[in-house]
Order: sequence, then structure tokens, then C-alpha cells
Amino acid sequence: MSKTETSPTTPQVRILIVDDHPSTAATLARALGQLGSAAEVVSATNGSEALEKVKDKGVDILITDMIMPEMTGLELIEKLRDHPGGKPSRTYLVTAYDVPGLKVTASRLKVNEVLIKPIRPERIYQIISRDIEEMKQSTQPLKNTGPEKRKFKILVADDRPDNLTLLARYLEYEGYDHVEAKDGEEALIKAQDETPDLILLDVDMPKKNGFAVLEEIRSNENLKHIPIIILTAARLDSADVQEGLNLGADDYITKPFDRRELMARIRTKLRVKEAEDATRRRNRELSLLPEIGKELSARTELKDIANILLKRTAETLGAIEGHMVMLDANGNTTEHYQISVSNPEAITEQMILEQSLLNHVLDTRQGVIVEDATKNEYWLFNEKDQTRSAVIAPLFGRRDLLGLLLLTHEQENYFTLDHLLLLQAIASQAAIAIENVRLYQNVTEEQKQLEKIKNEFIATASHDLKNPIMSISGFSNLLTKAGPLNDQQEEFVDRIQSSTKNMLELVQNMLHLTEIDLQKSETSRESIEAIALLKEVVNEFEIQAAQKSQKFALQSEVATAYIHADLLQIKQVFRNLIGNAIKYTPNGGEIKVITKLAQDYLEVQVQDTGYGIPSADLPHIFDRFYRVRTGKTTEIEGNGLGLAIVKSIAEAHGGDVRVQSKPDEGTTFMLDLPLVGRAVLQNG
Ligand code: ATP
Ligand code: MG
Repeated sequence: MSKTETSPTTPQVRILIVDDHPSTAATLARALGQLGSAAEVVSATNGSEALEKVKDKGVDILITDMIMPEMTGLELIEKLRDHPGGKPSRTYLVTAYDVPGLKVTASRLKVNEVLIKPIRPERIYQIISRDIEEMKQSTQPLKNTGPEKRKFKILVADDRPDNLTLLARYLEYEGYDHVEAKDGEEALIKAQDETPDLILLDVDMPKKNGFAVLEEIRSNENLKHIPIIILTAARLDSADVQEGLNLGADDYITKPFDRRELMARIRTKLRVKEAEDATRRRNRELSLLPEIGKELSARTELKDIANILLKRTAETLGAIEGHMVMLDANGNTTEHYQISVSNPEAITEQMILEQSLLNHVLDTRQGVIVEDATKNEYWLFNEKDQTRSAVIAPLFGRRDLLGLLLLTHEQENYFTLDHLLLLQAIASQAAIAIENVRLYQNVTEEQKQLEKIKNEFIATASHDLKNPIMSISGFSNLLTKAGPLNDQQEEFVDRIQSSTKNMLELVQNMLHLTEIDLQKSETSRESIEAIALLKEVVNEFEIQAAQKSQKFALQSEVATAYIHADLLQIKQVFRNLIGNAIKYTPNGGEIKVITKLAQDYLEVQVQDTGYGIPSADLPHIFDRFYRVRTGKTTEIEGNGLGLAIVKSIAEAHGGDVRVQSKPDEGTTFMLDLPLVGRAVLQNG
């Protein structure tokens, strides 16, 4: 039986859990499984999957991880706001780090609570069952009030109810929030779930005494920084005091205590804690740096760098907009990338930078904080713009200023020096990544230049070789006519002739390929009826197939099919495929040429029952000069250019060629060519 009973009239609450760590999502989902039929739990491991799963029906409660690949938790929240089924009434954001800007951004997006990992399943169960209870009680949809202004939260652990009441009253009077625990175990659980800012801890308590609680908290990575004041009426000896302090208590106060003194001590500890929190946060922010650096260095496109950079920095610093502006040597904007955290549609047309800003950055090599955007010499204020403050960091390459990184906020004086320093640190990493991208692009452009030079060289050489080869062929032909030759001489002439034929083919094929690469070949595009052309090529090869006693036929499903193509090139494709099939099939084998219609493509299959191609060679056979070097095909002559030509021509025509083969069984080449208009099938 489930823990929470629902009457049939209570509508079921739909909960969506999204976390890219599958086990976290599963743990949370399992914890909520205890709610039984009161809740329907949907879980997903990324934003798009989540959106897909809830596209037909909205959810009431959303629990989402913050940093997920592709879509962050904040973006998901944003997207779900516009869900036709209504936005979730409760939203929880789960994160591994409590980055400073996150709470601000989260509150802007009306997130109810930011939960820091690790989260105990019991805690999530508690939160959600409370929500469900509240939803049941009000027939009205829940009003989402968002998080309140931050108050310090103090955990009071004491087994005596009168002590609890008294301390609670004092704390309320001072303006603190408080949570209570009646024994040691409860104190530990509340410390984990509520992450209080300070703990007032009694020593003699049931289940676990205060010293044991203290020891456990100090050895817990997530809790050890919480200040603890021991408050006791029983353990008054100096040995006890020593023990408590040695175990890590920040203060040891004995009862009866002076109220004002206690409050003063609490205030001091909280002040220290605040300063320590800021340092801890800063450390965490710094640990973000290598993470971002790693993400950036894997990118080869500027827009990807901009995207990661703007997302991560805007979220971390709680900015509403982020801009990356790339500059040329004269300070003119060459590219502008931007994101808006709260409203993805709000896109500024152009980012106009003040010359004074550029001068300042170039002079000092430092960024700036714009405290009040309405009156600041570095900021061009625009009435329509909601920006009231900004932080700007330069992207300095090894030599030049590559651009600027700008984050904006709708409140004045939002950004602090810490923000600027962090942004500058991130910007210097990004600048390296940007320079690498440019270098990479230059190199690719160069590797292309070289390719072009090589192609031109091959083209010229092939072209120049053609004439001498033709002349060898011509003169060797004349030899036979110039006078009688003995048998051996005739055999030599035959060999010369067959070699020159091969050479000529090779040279022509090389020329052809380089011309395609250089986009020099004179391609004409005309409307061609492919089936008739195929018949023509099949006829050409009939004699060759007959010489090898091969069964050879065209089986066309399609009667006519028009393609927009270069006639000579397509003819060459058909010739190369059919020529190979005959060449690589032993005597007595069978070759079938089949045509089929596949959507808007004509598929031509050339099937043979020949030697086949070993699977290790298959991925390479369309490469230039690649030939299978094993088995029976080794002795067959060829240059390994035919299929490379087939592939480039097919691709240049918007088509494709594929192969399937099994050694000793046969090979099928499948050629797809895009159709123009409708093809006609054989039977009508
Ligand atoms: P050429 O440049 O004269 O065409 P080639 O026939 O060797 O020379 P390709 O047509 O590119 O070159 O074929 C590459 C290799 O793929 C061939 O050497 C052969 O090993 C293998 N191959 C191609 N077609 C078939 C086929 N139908 N059956 C078996 N192997 C084939
Ligand atoms: Mg070939």
C-alpha cells in the first residue's frame, strides 16, 4: 500500500525529473515512487527528451538538473513556461555548485528552491509530499511566490521543548529563520536537508549526543563548514569544554546564558561564515575555469565557442544577457554573438560600442564594470534597453585585441569586482580557444591550397603525357605495317600496345578526377533519360560478357527516368560499374543490372556473382588507387581509379554510391541518382 492515499477525485500530480546523470534521476524517481498513485513521475536524462515526454500533457512539478549538455536546466524551465498545458506550479533546480549568480537567475525564473547536490532521496520525498499536500488543500492553483529575501537559517537542536521554544523566540526576534531538532539524529538529518547557516547544539540528547553529532558534521564534506555553537547546562567542566572545542565546535556556551551575549556571538560567527562562504564560492568559481577551458578547447567553430562561453558565464554570474563581439584591427565589429537568459527572443540588433571603451581596454588591457548604464562614459545607453549595469572583459590574443565579452543586468550596481576578475579569467581562456580556431581554419585553408596545387600538377602532367603515349601507340601500330615481323616481335608489339592502352586509361582517369576536384571539367547539365542510356552501355558490354560466357542482362522495373546530368559523366559511371562487374567475375558467372525507384531517386544496382571484396577492403575501395591486393583479383589489371571516379561523379550529381559484397559470392553496387519529375514504371 502506498504511503499517500488519494481519493479518486484528487487529480494526480505529474512530476518531471530531469538529470543527465542517469542514476540521480533514477534515485529521485524511486524516492518519489513512494508517493504511490498520488503522483505520476516522468523522468528524462536531457532537456529535449523531457520536452518530448511531456509534450502532450503539462507537469505540475519540475525537478531539473542545472548543467546538462545541450540544454541547461534554466533553458528547460524557460521552455516549459510556454507549455500549452500550463507551466509547472513548482520548480526545483538541482546543481552541484552553488554559483553566486545562479540564485539570482533562478529567482528571476521563479524557481522555488535551488537544491545543492547530493540530495537525499528522503529530502526530495519530503519536499514533494509537502507540495502535494498543499496542492490538495487549495483548489486554486498554487501561487508561485518565488524564493524570499535571504535570511540566515539557524538549526536549534535541544531535547527540552521549553529550551526550544525560548531559543526560537529569541531568534525570531533577531530576524533569523530557524529549524528545530529534538534529538541527535534529527539534528543530523536537518543539517543535511536544510543546510543551515549555523547550529546551536545541546550535548545531552537522546539517540545521539551533541559531541557525536559534532564529530559527524565535521567529517562531512558538505556540512563541515557550518559554524556550531555548543549550548549546554550539563557539561560544564573544562575537560568537556576542551573536548567540544577539539571536536571542532566554534564556541562553547554554558547555561544559563546571557541572551544578548549569545546573540552577539551568533552574529560574529555568521559574519565570519559569510566571509568564508564568499571564499568558498570563489574557489568553486575558479574550479569552473578548467572545466570551461576544456569545453572550449574541443571546439573548431567560433559560434560554438561563443555559445558555450556566453551560456556558462551568463549563468554563473547571473547576467540577463551575454554578448561576444569580435573586432578587426581597426576596432570595427566583425561578428556579434549573443544570448538572453530570461528571454531567448530578446535579441539586440547591433551592439554599438563606445570608442572610449575600446580605448580604455586597449590602454589598460583590463575590463571594466559599468555600475550605472544610464550614465557611464563607457556605455552607450539606449532607452529601449533594459540594461542597467554591465561587466566587460577583453579577449586578448597573443598580439591583438580579438574582441570583447559583455554581460548585462537589469539592476544597477549588480556586478562586483569578483565578477570582473572571474570573467577576465574566463575570457583569457576563451581567447586562446578563439586563436586556435582561427589557426585551425587557416591551416585547413592552407592543406586546401596545397591540394589545389597538387591537382593542377597532376592535371598538367597527365595532359602532357597523353601525346607521347598516343605516339608510342601509333608508331607501334605502324611497326606491323612497315614490314614482316617474326612471331616474337609481334608478341612484343602486342605487349607494347596493351601497356600503352593501360597507360592512356590511367592518364585519362587521373586527368578526369583532378578536373572534377578543380571543378574545371566541362560539366554540362541536361535532361537525360537514364534507362535508355543504361541500355546503350549494357549493349556495349555484351560482347565482353559473352567472351567470358557470362549471363548478362538488364532488368528494369522502371520504364523511363529523367535525371539532370552530364551525359558523358553518367555514361562513364555506368561503364565503370558494369566493366568492373564483368572484370571481377569469373567465366560463366552472372551479372544483373537492375533499376528501382526509391522516393525521388533512381536506384541502379549492378550485381555480380564474382570474386567479391573482403570486408577489410570494403571501406577503401572508393579511394583513389586502391585495389584489393589479395585473392583472385590480384592478377587482374587496373589502376584503382574507376570507383573513385564513380563516387565523385555520383556526388557531384547529388547522388551516392554504396557497395555490398561477400568474398566468393559476389558484389552489388547501388547507385542513387536524383530524379527530375516523375519516373514511369514498366507496367504503367
Ligand atoms: P580502374 O582504374 O581501371 O577501374 P580498378 O578496376 O582496379 O582499376 P576500381 O574500379 O576503382 O579500380 O576498383 C577498385 C578495386 O575494387 C578493384 O581493384 C577491385 O579489387 C575491387 N572491385 C571493384 N569492383 C569489383 C567487383 N564488382 N567485384 C569484386 N571486386 C571489385
Ligand atoms: Mg575498375
